[in-house]
Amino acid sequence: MLRRCASEYNGDLRAILKLPQKDAMKALKKFPSVGEPLAERILMMTHTYPVLSLDSNGLRVLQRLGFAAVLKDYSASYRAMREALASQLPVDFDVLIRAHLLLKRHGRELCKTTRPLCVQCPLEHDCPAAHRLV
Ligand code: SF4
Repeated sequence: MLRRCASEYNGDLRAILKLPQKDAMKALKKFPSVGEPLAERILMMTHTYPVLSLDSNGLRVLQRLGFAAVLKDYSASYRAMREALASQLPVDFDVLIRAHLLLKRHGRELCKTTRPLCVQCPLEHDCPAAHRLV
């Protein structure tokens, strides 16, 4: 599979980054284990398209802060968050990458899946989910 994908681009995967965003996403998702979040992360980290890729930690943090609802499956939740944030994101790769990394760290260290450490969280007073998840 990987070899077939690579041969489509004559071994130079940078060709994918020259495609229109929708086509680049489609091409990246053909690789094993590459879903929507990882494909977007590649486009963001390579400064190709200014998207905010979220890992599961970042998505959880933003859901708890009320930016978008938790839906029945991960993909639907991810897309809902992307739509909710679309008009608020800057076209600045450094800001987007920093936001991605900070949200990931916040989710890992404080806003954990179970028993988030809300008493230590700087967002405690603005978070609708604060102290509701124990
Ligand atoms: S207050 Fe609690 S639930 Fe809200 S973002 Fe902080 S750690 Fe997460």
